[in-house]
Amino acid sequence: MPDLRFKPQPPQHTEIPRPKKGEGQWALGYTEPLNKNEQSKKDDDPLNVQARILHIYSKRGFDSIDPADLRGRFRWMGLYTQRAPGFDGGKTAMLEEEELDDRYFMMRVRSDGKLLDAATVRALGTIGRDYARDTADVTDRENIQYHWIRIEDVPAIWEVLESAGLSTLEACGDSPRPFLGSPVAGVAKDEIIDGSSALDEIYRRFIGSPEFSNFPRKFKTALTGHPGHDVSPETNDISFVGTVHPEHGPGFDLWVGGGLSTNPMLAKKLGVWIPLDEVADAWEGVAGIFRDYGYRRLRSRARLKFLVQDWGVEKFREVLEKEYLGRELVSCESPASPVGHRDHIGVHEQQDGKRYVGVAPTAGRVSGTLLLQLADLIEEYGVAGARLTPYQKIVLIGVDPEKVEELVVRLDEIGLSARPSNWRRNTMACTGIEFCKLAIVDTKNRARDLVAELERRFPDLDVPITVNVNGCPNACARTQVADIGLKGQLVMADGEQVEGFQVHLGGATGLQANFGRKLRAHKVTSAGLDDYVTNVVTAFLADRTDGESFTE
Ligand code: SF4
Repeated sequence: MPDLRFKPQPPQHTEIPRPKKGEGQWALGYTEPLNKNEQSKKDDDPLNVQARILHIYSKRGFDSIDPADLRGRFRWMGLYTQRAPGFDGGKTAMLEEEELDDRYFMMRVRSDGKLLDAATVRALGTIGRDYARDTADVTDRENIQYHWIRIEDVPAIWEVLESAGLSTLEACGDSPRPFLGSPVAGVAKDEIIDGSSALDEIYRRFIGSPEFSNFPRKFKTALTGHPGHDVSPETNDISFVGTVHPEHGPGFDLWVGGGLSTNPMLAKKLGVWIPLDEVADAWEGVAGIFRDYGYRRLRSRARLKFLVQDWGVEKFREVLEKEYLGRELVSCESPASPVGHRDHIGVHEQQDGKRYVGVAPTAGRVSGTLLLQLADLIEEYGVAGARLTPYQKIVLIGVDPEKVEELVVRLDEIGLSARPSNWRRNTMACTGIEFCKLAIVDTKNRARDLVAELERRFPDLDVPITVNVNGCPNACARTQVADIGLKGQLVMADGEQVEGFQVHLGGATGLQANFGRKLRAHKVTSAGLDDYVTNVVTAFLADRTDGESFTE
């Protein structure tokens, strides 16, 4: 089989000198693997692990799994080993990752902005109930994430997913990760353009393709035609954001190089206009630049954001146009940045007169049983389906206006509130120490308790305050763009190291986009978190002027 991963195309118009010390850019001739991750990907295309899971590992059991697959290529199938119980946060730093391995897996199912009908939600619930000890989380990449998965059950789970039109393919790994699509695509009254068909096309052409199965690192995609920019486009590697060209009409601006974790950067706007039917080609071009010019030597510099930072927007656009698209893009003003909520919580009128209803589980935690109950309600009320959101929420689409209030009550009864408190609405949490091997602290349970306590202390808060709880510096729940961003780490208390958080204050996306200030002195123990947030909120409420948001 020919190696499709890199088709050398010498730069034809752009002078890009080979740096003295290479960073592993294939396009500049550094094709020899410069670290063990690159070596593993060269040894075998990670997509090939799917066949081994189906035909060998699932039949012979956990101990038969090649370690290079277990801790590397399994990710391309949306599978990570979960954290073995009994290791506290202090152990995380002292042990090798493999020493924390459990014999069970965390599995991510991508939804890619799709509408999930009753049968699909039922399939997701069934998997949680039957194969995952009734776990299921809605993640901030619009995935459903399970825990306690046994390797023996993976083929059966994949069969259920396939029959529901879903998959785990490239849900992790150095690959095109799950896409964020607008949860209200095609129905929102104020939508600029519905980009659903473009996401479908990108999936059909490129997911599972060996051409893009070996990026330098993860590659995150977002696309929205909603003026509320409801997919956190600032924090993705590539984002298509709805805009209107004065002559050509609705299309998408292209943003590149966003990403959080350490060295966080907001995506840069190219200021172009891309019509709906050319979005997939533009995606292919940017993905090609990342694959060919991305830095592969150091994992810590391998995200697209570092290349965008070094090149700048002008050069990035020039290379995209000349080497990858073979034509110039149409310039256009970038769309205005929005203010306010982007989560679609509550009841809203659709273009067709029906309603969409956004509901909030606490910090994204649901369960197989809850998803089955949700499927029953979708069916009973004749709802078109549900979409997942980048804020760990669920939006029901196509609700009959006559039945909406009754449905809201029924949803509340199963733990999905359409009228949640500020705290439940605006608190997110990553996986944390319960299952994540990189975690230093607990997040989901801590967030749940924090929400309950703040609901008691501030029941009538009249201004949104966002709290993002993260178990380590990796910022999976977007530490730096929350009003109160919490980064898990060990902190000192009474001469001992205990679970706690470094605090970042005043982060935001949209019109006020900026990263929260990391205040060195603001470290808080996990046990002291309720009081810490209470003090911050009390001080804000005492000092604010009329209409002032937390970020201001
Ligand atoms: Fe795991 Fe850290 Fe990501 Fe949380 S932020 S899910 S602890 S890697």
